[in-house]
Amino acid sequence: MISYQEAYRKVLETTLFVENEEVALSASQGRILAETIVADRDFPPFDRATKDGIAIRFDAHRSTEHAFPIEGTAQAGSPQLVLKDLNSCIEVMTGAIVPKNTDTVVMYEHTSQQDHSFRIDRAVQKGQDIHYQGSDMSKGDVLLTPGLKITAAEIGVLASVGKATVLVKKHPKVAVVSTGNELVEVSETPLPYQIRKSNAYSLKALLENEKIDADVFHLVDDPSSIKKGLSDWISKYDVLLLSGGVSKGKYDFLPSAFDELGVEKIFHKVLQRPGKPFWFGRHNEKKTCIFSFPGNPVSTFVGYHVYFMPWLHKVLSVETPKFTVFLGEPYTNTTDLTLFVGVKVEWREGKPMASPISTTGSGDLTGLAQWDGFIQIEPQGTLAENSLVPFVPIRNIL
Ligand code: AMP
Ligand code: MG
Repeated sequence: MISYQEAYRKVLETTLFVENEEVALSASQGRILAETIVADRDFPPFDRATKDGIAIRFDAHRSTEHAFPIEGTAQAGSPQLVLKDLNSCIEVMTGAIVPKNTDTVVMYEHTSQQDHSFRIDRAVQKGQDIHYQGSDMSKGDVLLTPGLKITAAEIGVLASVGKATVLVKKHPKVAVVSTGNELVEVSETPLPYQIRKSNAYSLKALLENEKIDADVFHLVDDPSSIKKGLSDWISKYDVLLLSGGVSKGKYDFLPSAFDELGVEKIFHKVLQRPGKPFWFGRHNEKKTCIFSFPGNPVSTFVGYHVYFMPWLHKVLSVETPKFTVFLGEPYTNTTDLTLFVGVKVEWREGKPMASPISTTGSGDLTGLAQWDGFIQIEPQGTLAENSLVPFVPIRNIL
């Protein structure tokens, strides 16, 4: 059996090539940008008034006595006006082009109006309240580089440079497959020896967080239908995420089915808890990557986070964010397994403190709802309170 570190390394070494695709701007949130975005014009694209008020020629402002007759009004969204008499003014609205022959904007609050002219009541600085063309960015400047995850902030930038569609990394095609004769649909009332399917729903929901729309299937514990289903999905998908059927049980048929279908076993079983019977491999020809998690819901859930997520990040060429938290209490691991322990995180004096949540084991599905995430504890050792430990959040705790 291999260590968690070795298993992790082997998973990350197993890459998959993904292409790029063009998506609508409105569908690009959460996707990985695959093109360089440059400014298509100067930002701002013209000298822009930043206050509602009047635009004047600075040299004409000799005293507070000087009255500036109003020549017109420059509205945002209108072509540039021209000041004809240099001793006059043009009213300007925020966002309008500063009129030609003017060089200074004075906000209404610093003026007084009499009939058809304005006087200025305050000291004025030449060029005030103008956001100059190109002062933020010049045409051709690089605004966004490939590899970043698109958020609301980037969507604003993309919109302002006219990207109605954006080139992003294509996501792998994923099938989620649950297995087991004991499983019934959510809408059904289980018989005493049955349980409702939950893994496929959690996995599908987790994938939705990554904007991956997975197809969901189920297999009963029967070798021939397993082989038939798998061979079909191996040819249609880039990734299969399976749950159940990889342990030592008499009806755990997946490992032999993979073997018969030409899936190379990269490893089976890892020194970890939960999730020890994890099976990982890739189809020799189709290159389909197969993550086959043990069926206990917590094992599947943890396996997704510690293997599939970093693998997906690697495939999409983005960094996997690494978090740490402080242990709220000492922790001893007497086993030779890497442990993933569900925790609640509390902020004490600005420090994230993790307290382990006691569970009844890897089948404790309802316990998951109390987790903020889980910590990683290395084999054989004692960690003191306040030790920093790796942490995988499963919800937003900031
Ligand atoms: P297995 O890995 O197939 O031996 O399953 C281990 C345990 O997880 C059994 O108690 C199963 O009933 C349970 N289990 C397997 N698949 C699912 C699933 N999709 N949803 C909920 N529980 C499951
Ligand atoms: Mg099973």
